[in-house]
Amino acid sequence: MRSPEEQRLIREDIFRWLDGKLGSGRSELSRGELQDYHFGPERIPLVDTARGIRNPQDFEATLTIMTSVKSPYGPESITEDGFVRYSYQSRDGGDNVKLRRAFEQKEPLVYLQGIRPGAFVPYYPAYVVADDSDARQFLVALDESMRFFGDPLHMTSDERRYAERTVRSRLHQPVFRAKIMFAYATTCAVCSLKHGDLLDAAHIIADSDSSGFARVSNGMALCKIHHAAYDRNLLGITPDYEIRIDKDLLAEIDGPMLRHGLQDMHGRELGLPTRKADRPSKDSLAVRYAEFAR
Ligand SMILES: [Zn+2]
Repeated sequence: MRSPEEQRLIREDIFRWLDGKLGSGRSELSRGELQDYHFGPERIPLVDTARGIRNPQDFEATLTIMTSVKSPYGPESITEDGFVRYSYQSRDGGDNVKLRRAFEQKEPLVYLQGIRPGAFVPYYPAYVVADDSDARQFLVALDESMRFFGDPLHMTSDERRYAERTVRSRLHQPVFRAKIMFAYATTCAVCSLKHGDLLDAAHIIADSDSSGFARVSNGMALCKIHHAAYDRNLLGITPDYEIRIDKDLLAEIDGPMLRHGLQDMHGRELGLPTRKADRPSKDSLAVRYAEFAR
């Protein structure tokens, strides 16, 4: 067993390493990257090849847990109330013991949400906040603020409201972003800019559905300027995927950003994902286009 001090250093180093990997507008990592984490010269894979939990022999408590897209619970296993319910491993023994230890010792871990085969959105630091032995599940909080609920298995109505808001605003967003960037090959649908740092996953209709992740068909990859212009109805998109610019804006005279960045986009065709199911919903576009046209 490694010393407690060394285990703590490695956990902290993993979080820093993830911070570094997720710069430049990325929100997902590949299985290969997760298997190739190094602490100094030593390689410590962060995912297990065969199982959804990573419990190195020389660690007291679990390092990572994952939900793969193949799991029976589907890719959307962050519950409405903002926790992940992680079932006891059937092959009892070490795995459950080490997750229980993560709970008792409040050890932070990484939760990996599978979004495609071999692609994961990490949430960290995540904490096991309850051990529900009746349901044979551990309850994992993905947002640090939710560690401090009195009894996560019996939330007060205030806590539940807070949790649902957190899920909508913070927890669903990284998964939505990862899916949108993949569908649009990290390219602005309006101007074709391909710089992840300058791109957003934009909603077509505001994401009001608390129960599910926003569908890719309710989103588009847009650069910062075109996202803002779309949200403020200075730029419209017809249900037939044609870009329109507000007519007052078309008449303005100003520098190159207005001319090339906005006016020249008028009449262009929207860049679309190759997969048909990922393309923007024509119904949602029509609702928004009616607002723009008003
Ligand atoms: Zn753009």
